[in-house]
Formats: sequence, C-alpha cells, structure tokens
Amino acid sequence: DVPNPEHDRLQQSAKDHLVLHFSKQEIDDLLVLDRGEGPYVFDTKGRRYIDALSSLFCSQLGYSYGEEMADAARRQLTSLAFNTSWGTSHPAAIDLAEKIADLAPADDYRVFFTGGGSESVEAAWKMVREHFIAIGQPQRTKAIARDRAYHGVTLGALSFTGVRPFKEGFGEPPVPVTHVSNTNTFRAPDGADEAAFCARLLAEVEEAIVAAGADEVALIIAEPVQNAGGCFTAPAGYWPGLRRLADQYGVLLMADEVITGFGRIGEWFASSREGVAPDLVTVAKGLTSAYAPMGATLVRERVIAPLVEQRKVFRHGITFGGHPLSAALAMKSIEIIERDQVLENVRAQADPLRERLNHLLDLPIVGDVRGAGFFWAMELVKDDAATRFDQAERDDLLRGFLPARLREAGLIARCDDRGDSVLQIAPPLISDAALLDDIAAGLTDVLRDAGKHMSL
Ligand code: PLP
Repeated sequence: DVPNPEHDRLQQSAKDHLVLHFSKQEIDDLLVLDRGEGPYVFDTKGRRYIDALSSLFCSQLGYSYGEEMADAARRQLTSLAFNTSWGTSHPAAIDLAEKIADLAPADDYRVFFTGGGSESVEAAWKMVREHFIAIGQPQRTKAIARDRAYHGVTLGALSFTGVRPFKEGFGEPPVPVTHVSNTNTFRAPDGADEAAFCARLLAEVEEAIVAAGADEVALIIAEPVQNAGGCFTAPAGYWPGLRRLADQYGVLLMADEVITGFGRIGEWFASSREGVAPDLVTVAKGLTSAYAPMGATLVRERVIAPLVEQRKVFRHGITFGGHPLSAALAMKSIEIIERDQVLENVRAQADPLRERLNHLLDLPIVGDVRGAGFFWAMELVKDDAATRFDQAERDDLLRGFLPARLREAGLIARCDDRGDSVLQIAPPLISDAALLDDIAAGLTDVLRDAGKHMSL
C-alpha cells in the first residue's frame, strides 16, 4: 500500500456523488483504479491487479497503447471533433464501416454506429421491424431469445434479456419474446451426447417459432458464446441449425457479439467460427478496445435493401452514433490488433489456457470449466453431484468471500450469482503465457480457499 491523500477524498466523494451501475449503493471501500499498464491496473493505494476480465470483456489490448491512441485521438480532434450521425458522415466513420465490413462473416454487411451494446441491440430490432414493414409483413412483431442471456437493460433491449430479476417491476417489455433453453452443456439432460443435445435445442426453437405463430416471428437473437450463466459455447451444428430454421420460417437471425466480437475467442467475429453469416450482428465493448465508447449494428444487404429500394427513412438515430473520436480509436485498435498479431496470440494461447484452467477441476468446489479463446467460466458447486449452493450460501460466497479474496490476491475476475455460481475470466488479448500462468495460479489459491470457506 502506498499512502495516497487522494484515496480518502475519492472514497468520500464517491459515497456522496456516485450512483454505481449494477451495485448496491452503500459504497464502502470502493475499488478505485487510477492507472493501467499492460494487463495490469492499479488502485489509488498503488496496489496492482491483473485485469483478468479485460474490464468487463472490453480492453482487448490492455492498457499500454495510450500513446498511440492519444496520437490518433489528437489527429482526429484537431481535424474534426464532431459531426452528427444524422444524414451526414465523416471519413473516420466511413473508413471504419468499410473496415468492419471487410472483417465481417460475409461480404455484404453495412454498419450502423451506436454508443454501446444496448443501443446496438435496440437499433437491430428497429432495423428488423423496418425490414418487415417494408416487405409487407408488419405482423412479424415477436422474437426468440434464450434463457438467462443478457442483451442489455435499456427498456427495449430488456425484452430480449432473459435474466428475470432485471425485468421485475418494469412492466411488460415492448417486444414479445419467447425465451428458449440456452446451450448449457454442464446441466444438459442429454449428458455428453452433443448431437442429441443440439437436436433437442433446435427442436425447442422450432416449437417456439410455431407456438408464437410462424408468420409473426421476426427475429432469433443469441450470443455465439453466452456470457450470463457462464460462457455457454454452442454444440456443433447449433448455429447452422439456427440459420436453417430462420430461413425456413422467414425469420431473421442475429448474433449478439457484444462480447465475442473483435477477438475474444480468436476470430474477429465468433459467427465466422460457427460458419454462419447472421442477418444482423451487434458489437460494442472490444470494438475500440475500450479506448472510447462505441457500438455498432451490422446488417446484411438483403435486410436493408427494401428500405433502400423504397427510399424509406430508417426511423432511428442517436446523436453520438459514429462519433469521430470513437471511430478513429476503433480503427487504430483494429490496426494494432492486426499489426501485433493479437488474434494469433489468442489462438496460440487458448488451448494451453484451457489446460491450465482444467486443473481447477481437481478442487472440490469447481464443477465445470468451460469457454473458448480468452473467455472462460468456472462453475462452483457443493459436491461431485454438482449440487448448487443455496441463496444464502451464494450471497456469502459470491458477494462476500470471493470478491474480497480475489481483491486480496490482486486478481480482477467476475462473480456471477444469478442462479448458478460462476467465476469468470476474460484476460486481455495481449496476455502472454507467463501472465496466464499467474492468473491460473491466482485462481487456484483463491478457489482452494473458497472450498475451505464453504467447508468442502
Ligand atoms: N449484449 C451483450 C451480449 C452484452 O454482454 C452486453 C453487456 O454486457 C450488452 C449487450 C449491453 O451492452 P452495454 O452494456 O454496452 O449497453
């Protein structure tokens, strides 16, 4: 600990002035970070933490590219600082749209810029509705999403989100959505039979479409690797199956790649790995490597074509969509990812990381290790039968013991207690073997102690 006179002032000021996102509001000993370096962040007492979560799946490049980013920011701010996104554009947004379209899972995407993930999801839904209105199918007003998936909590995006507690008290969401099973293999009744699991999930999607009224469903929305619930990867054939069902019933397919986009699993887009080109793709988080806020909705030509042909107005827009500063920094981040072979690093390190994390299964508290690329979850259980912790135990473990123990270990990871008990990591994509060793070693210590704490 380095004494810092600012520390106490900031703690008090935060108590007096801040409203925290997704947190209880009694602010006590808030983690205040004031510096980053490589994959590390430092708090106001000078303590170092490995940011093993890339600051909520965002900081693909970690924290050492500030100078290059600042140069790009300076160039942009001194040429054109701002220009509204309504009916005009500027070189930074146009060039970025072209670059993203080049990297996308097919060669016919256009790009609508937003301020973040929720806005991207909402823009996607508006595009879907405009599409169906334009082609004379305005009755397609419903959607299929998945249990426990998180697609944002603004009131439109909340329709698609399947995390029930976030919806309570906010009324009927504007989009009628049927939530189907997610791809949780760990608790699948089909056991290890991947093909049976996949077939059952797809049959459920088809039943949901038919039950909702096949000509009333507009959209299927899913993440290639579902974050909420803990890094649920899809069984082989699942995404091609979703594509087939969407085509069969005239429904559009959307991949929410807010987390998986821009390298998290070693590809620019996880959809490419699944061999599918969704009709819409949402991105945010890693798009700028979090050097500035930005999101985007990618839409294939055939979705937008009816609006273009009929010279229709897309009745949606946000003032700061495609802000020049964010666009310039997104372009710079993509350039660095290409130049420094960052995706190659993720691909090379993913299997060794999986092996390291699989050792955690030796600990009694770890029931499952799952994920892909640099995106992993450990499900914590009471025993070999994978018994879940009850609510009081989850509160104690995931809101009390683990956050404190992780902090003490100098590790930033994510504890999720909504349903199953999950600890997640998503290291910066620049992480090398030594850092991944440190993360695995830290997790081993922390989870061993967590097991003891829970008397396992
Ligand atoms: N979609 C997914 C898959 C997400 O993980 C998130 C945020 O975590 C969102 C949408 C919402 O993004 P934002 O928080 O930028 O609004």
